[in-house]
Amino acid sequence: RARASMEPATPEGEAGPPVHGVTNTVVGVLGGGQLGKMLCQAASQMGVKIAILDPLEGCPASSVCSEHVVGSFSDGDTVREFAKRCGVLTVEIEHVDAVTLEKLEKQGVDCEPKASTIMTIQDKYRQKKHFSKFGIPLPDFVEVETLHSIEEAGEIFGYPLMVKSKRLAYDGRGNAVARSKEDLSSVVASLGGFEHGLYVERWTHFVKELSVIVARSRDGSTVCYPVVETIHKDNICHIVEAPAEVSDKIKKLATNVAEKAIKSLEGAGVFAVELFLTEDDEILLNEVAPRPHNSGHHTIESCYTSQYEQHLRAILGLPLGDPSMKAPAAIMYNILGEDEGEAGFVLAHQVIRRALNIPGASVHWYGKPEIRKQRKMGHITIVGPSKNTVKSHLDTLLQRDAHETK
Ligand code: ATP
Ligand code: MG
Ligand code: MG
Repeated sequence: RARASMEPATPEGEAGPPVHGVTNTVVGVLGGGQLGKMLCQAASQMGVKIAILDPLEGCPASSVCSEHVVGSFSDGDTVREFAKRCGVLTVEIEHVDAVTLEKLEKQGVDCEPKASTIMTIQDKYRQKKHFSKFGIPLPDFVEVETLHSIEEAGEIFGYPLMVKSKRLAYDGRGNAVARSKEDLSSVVASLGGFEHGLYVERWTHFVKELSVIVARSRDGSTVCYPVVETIHKDNICHIVEAPAEVSDKIKKLATNVAEKAIKSLEGAGVFAVELFLTEDDEILLNEVAPRPHNSGHHTIESCYTSQYEQHLRAILGLPLGDPSMKAPAAIMYNILGEDEGEAGFVLAHQVIRRALNIPGASVHWYGKPEIRKQRKMGHITIVGPSKNTVKSHLDTLLQRDAHETK
């Protein structure tokens, strides 16, 4: 029974006892990819109803949500209509129509996190300006609008130079590296020119990439998940190690930077803070995601409260859960498409078969209708009694058997 309600999602604000779980509030989620799917799985456990808005029939979340509205989360009218059936609106992707969310908020629709947060984050240049204003350590950056200004930036920042699209970036699509001044015009062209907005960042010679997931409740209190290390391949998250192998001092610094960054944003939910650890033991913020994140997949099996359950607790005004790990170590491996079509599924299946024979390994398959190269198709989390154990299990997972063909 979907309840159309504009009331705030606080359990206290509701009339009568919950009829279908921990709350009567229907959660509306913009986006129905793998993050939406895992949110629905956590919601299902607690008896929380989720409506999903996603244009793709058969999107990953569609098999587990209470209701799938087929439509675009970038279209104002569609989002407005969708909001009518939800008690609280949230996102599993930041590339949504934030202008409409802002208007809806003014009309009393409860968006968590707030539209202002989505607006700030979905434009990476605006995001950087915001965090810089709040004194968060960042790589140097500057907006570029002409070939002349990007050349000037290259002279100041040196090479390699990281050139980024302001908007619609994910999995490194939207980033390009210029090795020298001569590269600049082709790099700009590869990002579609200056029209859609570009900025550049000083190259960070990081020793590790770290991530901290911060959850914030509706009353503003926060809890932080243990610092993890993210290992990227071709700009795409490949492996996540929890906890990160860094000193306590670095863990504390990373957590402090992450918490401070999130406190500068508005609204409830979980937020992922991607960080660089430099050679000089500095922590710089790379970017924030206003939602559950790939670096928190492991929390499903390894933490007392997963990031997905935590996000629901936060936006629904329920008490936040314990973010700490209940196992000494976890490692997460993303299953990326290695080939198109049937051949891609065969390769992915081989990894899954091996995972099923590894102690402590859990397989997640997102059920995307099509497989493409470099597309996130699923992931495997291995939980175990020590870092060495989970790492050696990962080695086993990644060794192709002799009879398997590449
Ligand atoms: P996501 O899928 O996390 O949203 P994205 O497309 O927004 O990714 P970024 O997070 O900006 O891309 O960058 C992707 C990766 O590129 C980073 O994780 C890091 O490995 C590398 N990178 C980004 N910025 C820099 C920088 N200034 N210096 C060096 N490497 C960088
Ligand atoms: Mg990003
Ligand atoms: Mg990123």
